[in-house]
Amino acid sequence: MNLGIRKFPFPYKCALSISSDIDNASSSQSFIDFMNFLNSDGVTKYGTGLNLEIGNSFWFFNNSNFKQLSYFKNLTSEETSFAPTIRSLWRSGHIDTIHSWGNFDKGGFERKYAKIGLKILNEYNVKIPVWINHGIGKNYQKIGNYIGMYGDKPKNDNYHSDLLMDIGCEYIWTGKVTHIIGQNSKWNPSILLKTSLQWLLKQTKYRYIKQPIYDSGNTLLHPVKLGDANLVWEFVRFINPWGRAGILDIYEFVDQIRPTILQRLIKNEGIMVIYTHFNENLKKDLPKKLILHLNELKNLVAKKDILLATTSRLLKFWEIRNYLSYSLQENKDHNQIIIRDKLKNPIGTKIIKESHLQGLTFYIDTKKPCVVRFKNKVCETRLNPPDQTGKTSIAIPWKDLKYPDLNNV
Ligand SMILES: [Zn+2]
Repeated sequence: MNLGIRKFPFPYKCALSISSDIDNASSSQSFIDFMNFLNSDGVTKYGTGLNLEIGNSFWFFNNSNFKQLSYFKNLTSEETSFAPTIRSLWRSGHIDTIHSWGNFDKGGFERKYAKIGLKILNEYNVKIPVWINHGIGKNYQKIGNYIGMYGDKPKNDNYHSDLLMDIGCEYIWTGKVTHIIGQNSKWNPSILLKTSLQWLLKQTKYRYIKQPIYDSGNTLLHPVKLGDANLVWEFVRFINPWGRAGILDIYEFVDQIRPTILQRLIKNEGIMVIYTHFNENLKKDLPKKLILHLNELKNLVAKKDILLATTSRLLKFWEIRNYLSYSLQENKDHNQIIIRDKLKNPIGTKIIKESHLQGLTFYIDTKKPCVVRFKNKVCETRLNPPDQTGKTSIAIPWKDLKYPDLNNV
């Protein structure tokens, strides 16, 4: 039997995550109302919930001149009224991203703040797989190999990236963006042109830029060695296809998910993380076009053209799918696909948990019964009819996250 692994869970054609930084969220109530509208299937302030899977990010502290949604009041250890909402979304998996330990636009980050954050996460037994750098200027807690990023430099007072490993952080965003619709996509003239253009701009216009810019090529994940020698994955986020961007608030979000972009993502068979701050400028009413575009996204998710998942679930699927080690055992009356629990990849060796296997789809070309085995246990699987390639497959089901009731936290 020939055995292969499908690019995305059957029958999806592409995969998408919406990654929203928590900056300047309009209010805790609008945060809850909008998250309910996106993720629940009940009655919400903005209409019947869309039942999608769209996550969010959080801060522990706020040291800026503006009101922000954070776990603690400013730099104190006093919980805000928003803290229970954050905890509820940690538990459900809808907050899987730390937008750095806090907003330190006025400076003042110290390692002790990371230690407080770590203590809270340990107390509630929470892992946060995704780190996203926040801010300009005095946010020296940023990590990465660029100017003003000291969070991963052990000799600096802002050092904390060792503690990030303790909170289970596996994927970081240093600030790299892309205008290509779908990473690791099929090559076609438009992808080729955009990739070459970004490469050219990097060599010319942005040659002396000291901030994160494009990667060469069109890959979602890159291994990166931090200043303290820890290895992690760095990922890129998509802004828009045209180049210019403002503050990436709710109004720009309308255009970032417009149907032509979603259709192109499907056509390109890519994987993509959209960069937004959709809680910014969120008012009483949503832009009409946003509701239209979100409904179109809902249709494409329901048709199983687009797999929509939180950032950590999307990145974990991609990492596992690309580096999984498995073998085939052909018996007289059945075949067995055996998955190893060690994942060797460019950032080291990781242990795979059963929950990480969701969505894995193996192409098989036999009528013989087939099972998938992991750690001496037979996995729950489904046999699939041929997809657009004409091949049949066996898959470990992808399970939806359960969205919590935020009105009663
Ligand atoms: Zn930010």
